[in-house]
Amino acid sequence: MSRLYNFCAGPAALPTEVLERAQREMLDWGGLGLSVMEMSHRSDEFQSIAKAAEADLRELLQVPDDYRVLFIQGGATAQFSAVPLNLMELGGEADYLDTGLWSGKAIDEARRFGKVNVVASGKSLAYSSIASQDNWQISERASYFHYTPNETIGGLELFDIPSCSQAPLIADMSSTILSRPVDVSRFGLIYAGAQKNIGPAGLTLVIVREDLLGKAQAGVPRTMNYQLIADHESMLNTPPTYSWYLAGLVFQWLKHQGGLGVMAERNQRKAEKLYAAIDRCGLYGSCVDLSYRSSMNVPFTLKNKALDDPFLSGARERGLLNLKGHRSVGGMRASIYNAVSEAAVDALVSYMNEFDKQYG
Ligand SMILES: *Cc1c(COP(=O)(O)O)cnc(C)c1O
Repeated sequence: MSRLYNFCAGPAALPTEVLERAQREMLDWGGLGLSVMEMSHRSDEFQSIAKAAEADLRELLQVPDDYRVLFIQGGATAQFSAVPLNLMELGGEADYLDTGLWSGKAIDEARRFGKVNVVASGKSLAYSSIASQDNWQISERASYFHYTPNETIGGLELFDIPSCSQAPLIADMSSTILSRPVDVSRFGLIYAGAQKNIGPAGLTLVIVREDLLGKAQAGVPRTMNYQLIADHESMLNTPPTYSWYLAGLVFQWLKHQGGLGVMAERNQRKAEKLYAAIDRCGLYGSCVDLSYRSSMNVPFTLKNKALDDPFLSGARERGLLNLKGHRSVGGMRASIYNAVSEAAVDALVSYMNEFDKQYG
């Protein structure tokens, strides 16, 4: 058995050390004679796993005390509805920044519950860039301001936290959370599906400032009501216990690496190497404006589409997996989340150089 280099956008690579530990604990966790998957979520043992995961996450992200951390199901997509249902009055209004496919999906869903004011859209630029925030059309009636700091598909990342709105700032951090330190206190609510940079699919993290709880619309399903979920310590119903446990192992792994400062440096080095290869070789191109190039998801094209298939099959032969770009963008995409090592990026870069020499 060998583990190859996996550049999948999601569900994405997990640290090998984490999977090895899960393997060791698979059949018998802590000498209890059963798997974490077979434990009651209300047992003392699972409670200790759950509490430790939350404590480690709080430490990694320096989550302030007046924020609650929720471990729930439904993916980031369920949050596209949960956010308006919890934070917008019936028929109310909210600001949304449109930077690509995922913000578009959040906008479409929010429109089902109230008025969406799109403060700016990158659509006419094929989502390669976005107007600077002085040009955003903020609504004074907005209950919140929603944006997607990293567009997983388009590869556009906003490195500065918007400061143009007085309304609570809501961020879909699915593909950027834990990639570097972030000032949580600037946000009203952060959410993220786990399967990019946290753990396996099935778990969604919500980090919400306490004063935003208790504002849900009357008809909100109980499983989507932040206040109820928080009151029940994320155990209103059965939580995704195994994903929660694995996320906890990832948090421990991140602490062991030296925390998010260390991850940020490593991630920056990885991204710089990859973009340098794209820019150096005549064969490759990147569509995203330089100042918005994502450090997690790197889409690139080959100058000649006929080379896509040879590039991908050559990559597979070298153990470089899942480099095919999203169907809406085409070309290639390398997702280089925390669990993708520098060695993986180095292997990809040397393959790109080699391929460029042969075909460029
Ligand atoms: C993957 C992704 C989603 C969708 O996540 P699901 O868990 O599949 O619902 C939403 N937003 C962003 C930014 C993503 O990367």
